Amino acid sequence: MLTIKKQEDLGFDWCMPKRDDLEYKALYFISHTRSQGVLQSDLWRRLGASSREGSRIALKLENKGLVKRERELRSGRWTYRLFPKRQPPSINSIMECPCLMCSNDPRCGAFGSVSPIACATLTDWISGLVREPMDPSGDA
Ligand code: SF4
Repeated sequence: MLTIKKQEDLGFDWCMPKRDDLEYKALYFISHTRSQGVLQSDLWRRLGASSREGSRIALKLENKGLVKRERELRSGRWTYRLFPKRQPPSINSIMECPCLMCSNDPRCGAFGSVSPIACATLTDWISGLVREPMDPSGDA
């Protein structure tokens, strides 16, 4: 059985912050603000970070393409509002996945007699998702 022990095993370690650091906590919080976003200063206050440290992290997340920063005038001062570029997936996003009701499911997998790589049903479902506009809620 294939197990993934570390984030690096998934191959996206180059852009994802480590779970225990401030960058990860900031990204997690921003991701859950959805379309509202969060003011940079409010976020750093919640995370107990200095504004200097916070600005550095916001820039880092923006450079990695994980968040979007928009200038906003607040109490006569310019600040930034941070928005997630990706939404956390919801359970609704996989409700229509053909694998959930597939009779081949017990035999299907990387080392099974049936391969998801060659599955036309799964490919069609994924292709349909790609053609549909993205739902900002993370539901599709
Ligand atoms: S990948 Fe295809 S064969 Fe495998 S469980 Fe999903 S629908 Fe069934």
